[in-house]
Amino acid sequence: MKNKFLLALIFFGLFSLTILPARALDLSYSRGRIEGAANVVPAAIPFEKSSKDPLILPILMYHHIRVYKDLKDPVGVNLSVTPRFFARQLDELKRLGFHTITFKDLRAGQLPPKPIILTFDDGYEDNFLYALPELKKRGMRGVVFMISSRVGASGYLSLKELKEMSSGVFEVGSHTVSHFGLAGLPAQKLRKEVVGSKKILEKQLGSPIVSFSYPYGSYSAQAVREVSAAGYDYAVVTRSGFASLNYPLTLYRLRVVEGMNFQDSRLARKKVRLLSRVDER
Ligand SMILES: [Zn+2]
Repeated sequence: MKNKFLLALIFFGLFSLTILPARALDLSYSRGRIEGAANVVPAAIPFEKSSKDPLILPILMYHHIRVYKDLKDPVGVNLSVTPRFFARQLDELKRLGFHTITFKDLRAGQLPPKPIILTFDDGYEDNFLYALPELKKRGMRGVVFMISSRVGASGYLSLKELKEMSSGVFEVGSHTVSHFGLAGLPAQKLRKEVVGSKKILEKQLGSPIVSFSYPYGSYSAQAVREVSAAGYDYAVVTRSGFASLNYPLTLYRLRVVEGMNFQDSRLARKKVRLLSRVDER
């Protein structure tokens, strides 16, 4: 009996050695504040591993909504959903009882049952051509993360299109000035990418930019600090999972690809519990 107890004690000791340091690190990012963690790559706790974390939210990640021809082109396949399929996915989300919201809704704490956020990275013009009308038709919302230096560039959204999208359907978030990976970027350059894009977009659109997307999902403790200092309330990464709102500056997302069936995906199977209030901030 005593031996068994000792064995259990040793086992627990070893177990906590492997688990606890990672958790302690994660906790330093709670509510977007960074306390004491220096130059380490933060990792928000995946939804699956955090049973005590009720504030979770599915955030979908799209890039292009377009017809693409070359099925051997990995960029085309990984970053594109056809307009036809996109429309079907929106209908499916409705059927599953989801309500699309924006990060500004989240900040205001006005949440419908089963909220979900649809995000679109880079600011491609096809978002205006195909995503906007489909969302509008269904009274749904989205968030487009714009690379501020590409406004009006070939294949990207023009300012006129951005303005039209942001009147009632899309929230515009920032995706930096030039789309550099932020981890390892020199301090001054990093700040310029994070702060500059917010200022430019706010000036162009005349409304506050509260959300941010790390290009390539690349971030570091310093990058998170800059995002926080710049005044963003929410930031998304590309790691796969449900977002924990206790870690608003490293929110996980679910990549959407062509053919993905929400009915059979984690989205439908998981009991998505989200409290009707957001942590006081
Ligand atoms: Zn991007």
